[in-house]
Amino acid sequence: MKRWIITALLIITPLSSFSATTHALTPWQRIKAPIKASPHAIGEVNNGCIIGSQALPLQNSAYQVLRADKLRYFGHPDLINFIQRVTQKAQKEELGTVLIGDMAMPAGGRFTSGHRSHQNGLDVDIWLQLTDKRWSAQQLKKPVAIDLVDSNGKQVIEAHWTSNITRLIKLSAQDNAVARIFVHPAIKRKLCETAGNERQWLRKIRPWFGHRAHMHIRLNCPKESKECIAQPIPPYGDGCGSELASWLEDSHALPSVKPQDQKVPLLPATCQKLVDHHFKVN
Ligand SMILES: [Zn+2]
Repeated sequence: MKRWIITALLIITPLSSFSATTHALTPWQRIKAPIKASPHAIGEVNNGCIIGSQALPLQNSAYQVLRADKLRYFGHPDLINFIQRVTQKAQKEELGTVLIGDMAMPAGGRFTSGHRSHQNGLDVDIWLQLTDKRWSAQQLKKPVAIDLVDSNGKQVIEAHWTSNITRLIKLSAQDNAVARIFVHPAIKRKLCETAGNERQWLRKIRPWFGHRAHMHIRLNCPKESKECIAQPIPPYGDGCGSELASWLEDSHALPSVKPQDQKVPLLPATCQKLVDHHFKVN
C-alpha cells in the first residue's frame, strides 16, 4: 500500500458534528486551555499533541469560526498565522467571508470520535462555502454545509461551485506552510479541469472521500518542533491522471484498516507526560 494512502487514512471528518456525550471523553477533551510553553507540535497528526498552542481569534473581519463552543479552534502559531494570511488574501480579493471549521483542541490529542487526525495543531478544516453576509451566532453554532459533489460522486454540482471556491483552494495550496490539502476526488477533478497551465499547486491537492463541503489543510512540521513527525511529501506531478481516475472508478475501495491499526497507539512520551502531569495538578 502506498505510504500516502496510509497517511490519508488518518483523516476522517464527517459533515455533521459528533456528539461526544455518547462516548467517554478522552483526557484531551477535558483540557480546556493551552499548555503554557513555547509552541511545539509533537508526534503525528493522528497520534500527537501540541504544547504552547494559540487560540484563533474569534473576532475577525476576514473569517468566522464555526462551533466555537466545541473548543477546537487551537493550533500551532504557524496554523494561526496561515489562517490569518490566507483569509486576508481572500478578503482582499473579495471572495467572501471564510468559514473556519475544526482545528485542534487546546492541547491537541485524540478525540472520542470524528477526527483521527487534527491532533498536533497543524490541521484545519476550511469550508468550501464563502459567505456574502456574515453568519449569525446561531448559524455558526449549527452550521449547514453545502454538498458540492453530485450524488454519483464523479463531479461537482456546478450550481454550487464558484470560481471563488477554486481561488480559495489555490491560495491555500500556494502557501509555503501548507503540506497537503484533502478534498473529494470530484473536487480534485474540477480543479484539474479548470487549472489551465499553472498546475504546480495541484500536487498538494490530495483526493480522499468525504470532504464534499470542506477542505482539510495540513501544514508542514514547524522547524523548531523537533518531535513533530512529518508525512512523506505527495508524489510528483499534478495528480490529475491515472491516480485521480482510479479514485473516480466505481470499484475504488478505501484500503481496509487492519485490526492492529485500529488499536489506540502509544502516545509520544512527551504527550503522555503532559497528560499525566495535567491531571495530577488539576
Ligand atoms: Zn479535517
